[in-house]
Amino acid sequence: MEGRNDCFTDEELESARLIAMSYDVNATVFAGPRVGTTYDMSEACKRCGAGARQTSAMIIDGEYLHRLEGRRAASTSYDDVLADEKLARTLAESGLTGISFRGVFAAFEKRGHIQLPWRQLCAAHTMPPLSPRSTGIVPSELCACGRSGFDTPSEIPTRLVYRASDLVDIHDVNVTWEWFGDSRFDGDVRDALFPAPWFLVTPKIWRIFQGAGVTGFDWLPIRVVDDE
Ligand SMILES: [Zn+2]
Repeated sequence: MEGRNDCFTDEELESARLIAMSYDVNATVFAGPRVGTTYDMSEACKRCGAGARQTSAMIIDGEYLHRLEGRRAASTSYDDVLADEKLARTLAESGLTGISFRGVFAAFEKRGHIQLPWRQLCAAHTMPPLSPRSTGIVPSELCACGRSGFDTPSEIPTRLVYRASDLVDIHDVNVTWEWFGDSRFDGDVRDALFPAPWFLVTPKIWRIFQGAGVTGFDWLPIRVVDDE
């Protein structure tokens, strides 16, 4: 979703039902299964890992720690959204729905794990599948589960489209049913490359991030069509 050249006005973002947030790919911190974060795979696709449910704090690679410096929010290589403690506290006190927080640790080869003054934002709600009217999301090596194996070619603007009825159960933070990115999974989580869902938030979250002076994120409003 990164590198899209569309810019949306504050009014467009304010009036969106949901906004997909994506982070500068060159600034993400490496984290996830290969760094020691654990996942429950009982409901996940056995081939691609889509549906993996995180069961531990978020572990990031200590080598990437410098990428958090001077930031108030950031994203992992798997689109997990991270916020510094102060921003996390603001979010926690804002009466948001469907959000929870996990600790964030840095893993160092010699020194083990060190807890960071950061929190991961977690979404309880998974959206229904996107409307086929979405654009720029092209099945390329679609997994048998239907949830992963999409290309997002940069020459086609990414548009996430949902039907009005898909929005009935939304919260302030949500994840897509679809998972994006490459996958390599042979049953061993510690060696896995998982695809990841996109993080969809209400304008409330966007406002709080704006107010905190967060930079580095692209904000893409979803589109809504009538049910067919
Ligand atoms: Zn799959």
